[in-house]
Amino acid sequence: MSKLLDQMNELAAQVSVCRDCMLHLTRDKAVPGEGNVRTKILFIGEGPGANENMTGRPFVGQAGNFLNHLLEIANVRRQEVFITNVVKCRPPSNRDPLPEELSACAKFLNRQIELINPLVIVTLGRFSMARYFPLQRISAIHGQGLWVNDRLIIPMFHPAAALHQPSLRSAIEHDFSLIPGYLEQAKERFEPKPEEPKAEEKPTEPEEPASGEASQLSLF
Ligand code: URA
Repeated sequence: MSKLLDQMNELAAQVSVCRDCMLHLTRDKAVPGEGNVRTKILFIGEGPGANENMTGRPFVGQAGNFLNHLLEIANVRRQEVFITNVVKCRPPSNRDPLPEELSACAKFLNRQIELINPLVIVTLGRFSMARYFPLQRISAIHGQGLWVNDRLIIPMFHPAAALHQPSLRSAIEHDFSLIPGYLEQAKERFEPKPEEPKAEEKPTEPEEPASGEASQLSLF
């Protein structure tokens, strides 16, 4: 196994026994996150729901099915990316995570981001968006890729919210369709393509041969 995978598995083991906030009292299974640790895209949701709490896997319920559909729109295979949440244990009755739960769990998400070092982070819902844009409203910036410390952050509506509101559904589908373009943009920032020569730099006539030999060869 690779060192990176070992480190991620070690982190998952720490998450599964964590008691740093009250959520550990009501969890069945912690949900550290899953996927490809070498991905260029990281998805960050809110927190596990009932199905996730039972299985220990992120986004496996109704919202997960919708996320799978959105990933298809984005032309992204689920196993190619990494998916996690801002809190790793289920808030009872799916209530919003509390500030002390978010801050107790932040060390795990910070470490995951450090290990994966993604080019693009897609935030799903308000709580993961607030890590990067605490003063923004999701309705104002959803689908807009914004650079933060050399990563392209794309805030999206939460799939569960979009699933239940038809107007958000088409918006989130459209926003996910923008992901391939953003990924290209992010790659180009770090691996720029060689520039096309500008029109005036392109030679208009064949260059003078440098030597007699080259001149001879050009006759054939
Ligand atoms: N909603 C989330 O935000 N995360 C999950 O893992 C499942 C549903």
